[in-house]
Amino acid sequence: MNIILLGAPGSGKGTQSEFLCDKKNFIQLSTGDLFRTNILNKTKLGLEAQKYMNQGLLVPDLITNEMVKEYLERKHDNLIFDGYPRTDDQAQQLDKMLLLLNSKIDLVIYIEIDESLLLERLTGRIVCSICKRSYHKVNRKPIRNGFCDFDNGTLITRPDDQEDKIKIRLEAYNTQTAPLIKFYENKLKIINANNLSSEEVYNKILGVLKI
Ligand code: ADP
Repeated sequence: MNIILLGAPGSGKGTQSEFLCDKKNFIQLSTGDLFRTNILNKTKLGLEAQKYMNQGLLVPDLITNEMVKEYLERKHDNLIFDGYPRTDDQAQQLDKMLLLLNSKIDLVIYIEIDESLLLERLTGRIVCSICKRSYHKVNRKPIRNGFCDFDNGTLITRPDDQEDKIKIRLEAYNTQTAPLIKFYENKLKIINANNLSSEEVYNKILGVLKI
């Protein structure tokens, strides 16, 4: 089964993917993480993507789709798509790529959340430099200040988690990604996450997945 997690930056897609991978053997395909790994390794793709990411802008579809295509040629089942697709073109290309591989998207879970909460989450977010798990400076502190509970990796603030960049990312989400809710209306399950902890959201996801 392949699932897309749809939602604004900060809606918890990464955290939920993490739970689903740890507990239910899904594999996370996070385009944001793939780009960041490329940046770290200073690949051509990484250097190109970095120009856009650091400004809070979406990486062009052509680059993003090509990276996903390469990934899907190796793995195309049991995936959680986290942060992809993000535009109409990406959604259409994804359908085509999966069809060629005899696979498909089974379900799209839209994590709905108020923008004020997103801002609070993103401005306080710190992430592990090794495993990418997220923490929050005030609301979800690690046990040892500055280090990941899981692997002791250093916690860092992502360069695009600065307020001016966050605004641009939310704008990109509203204009380019939110319309996908309509694109996927036949496969869509909505979870309102406003007053829920990440564990509660996860339980709702399990309910939707019936697993
Ligand atoms: P968030 O969901 O918090 O924005 P991500 O790690 O998913 O974090 O994405 C970080 C950045 O990576 C985005 O702002 C964008 O620049 C780039 N990116 C990730 N996924 C895509 C995508 N599918 N299409 C274009 N750009 C992407």
